[in-house]
Amino acid sequence: MSYHAICEQVESGGRITTSEAATLWRHASDDDLKRLAQSVRARYHEPDRATYMVMRIVNYTNVCVAQCDYCAFYVLPNQEGGYVLSRGEVFAKIDELLELGGDLVGFNGGFNPKLPLDYYCDLFASVRERYGDRVEFYALTIAEFVYLADRAGLSYADAAARLRDAGVHWVTGGGSEVLTEDFRSRHAKFKYTVAEYFAAQRAIVEAGLRTTATMVIGFDETLEERLEHLQRTRDFQDETGGLFSFLCWSYKPYGTAFGGREIEPREYSRHIALSRIFLDNVKHVRTSVLTQNEEAFRALEFGADDFDLPIEDEVTQKAGARIELDLDALLAVPRSLGYEVEYRRAERPALFA
Ligand code: SF4
Repeated sequence: MSYHAICEQVESGGRITTSEAATLWRHASDDDLKRLAQSVRARYHEPDRATYMVMRIVNYTNVCVAQCDYCAFYVLPNQEGGYVLSRGEVFAKIDELLELGGDLVGFNGGFNPKLPLDYYCDLFASVRERYGDRVEFYALTIAEFVYLADRAGLSYADAAARLRDAGVHWVTGGGSEVLTEDFRSRHAKFKYTVAEYFAAQRAIVEAGLRTTATMVIGFDETLEERLEHLQRTRDFQDETGGLFSFLCWSYKPYGTAFGGREIEPREYSRHIALSRIFLDNVKHVRTSVLTQNEEAFRALEFGADDFDLPIEDEVTQKAGARIELDLDALLAVPRSLGYEVEYRRAERPALFA
C-alpha cells in the first residue's frame, strides 16, 4: 500500500499492519504523524483536553534475583544495601502523597525470595483497610505477579483470586519493556517468557481486576521488535478488552550493566504517535513525565491524552530520572500548549464499584 493510502486508511478509521506502521515510521513527517495520531485520539477524547494523576511509586524492596541488565535499582539477596520497607514506612509515604494532593500508589519492587505472596496480600489488605477509597493502588506489575505466583506454586488464576480477596483492584502491565522473546533473552532471561506474561495478564483480567499495557523503548530493540510489542498488545486487547491504557517510558541507562544512551525526545514523541495510531482499540495513551520531564507534554500533540505526575520512583531515579515536585510548574507546560488539564481518579473495577 502506498504511503498516501496508509494515511487515508488511518484517517478513515481503518487499521494498519506492522509493515504499514514501519512505512509510517520511516517516511512520515512529524506533522503527518501528529495529524494521524490526533485523528485516532479524537475517536476517544476531546482534542484540547488531557487528564492526569498525581502518584507515587513505593519501592518496597530493592532485593531482586532477576538481574535484568538494564536495571540500576536492584541488589542481590545477601548483598549490602538491600532493604524491605516496614509497614510504617509504606504508610508514611502514602500519607505524604495524600498531603501533596495525590491519590495513586504504584507498588513496585524486586523479585525478593524472602517475600512470599502472603506478605503482599497482608500489605495490600492493610493499605485498603487503612485508606479505604482515599487512595487507589497498583498492587504489582505483571512481572512481579508471575514471579510470586510461580514461587507460591499457584496457577495465575488462583494467585489473581488471592489478590482480589486482599482488596486489590489493579495489577499493571509494568515490567514489560519490549515483549519479544529475543529481547527477553538478551536482557532479562530470568524474568518471564512473553507467553507467561500474557497468560498472567489474561488471568488478571478474568479475575475481574484492571490492568494496563506498558512499554519501554530506547535499549537496543529494533523497529520490528517495537512493532511486535504493539501487535501483541493490540491482539491481547482484541481478545480480552482488559487494557485500560498504554503507557510508554524511555530507557534510562545510567548505572546499568547494559549502559547505552538515552533516545531523543523527538523519537519518543514519534513512537507515541505510532502507538496511538496502531493501538486503535486502547482508549488511553499515556505520556511519561517520569522519564521525559517537560518534554513529555509534547507527546500530547502526538496523540497522548493522559499522564502521571510522579513524586517518587527509585527504580528510574537510580538510572538517571529527575523528578520535579513543583506540580503547578509542570502543569503550566501543557496549559501553555493549549490543553485544558483535569485531574482523574483511578477507576474501580466493575466488580468493586
Ligand atoms: S527491572 Fe525489576 S525485575 Fe529486573 S532486576 Fe530490576 S528490580 Fe529486578
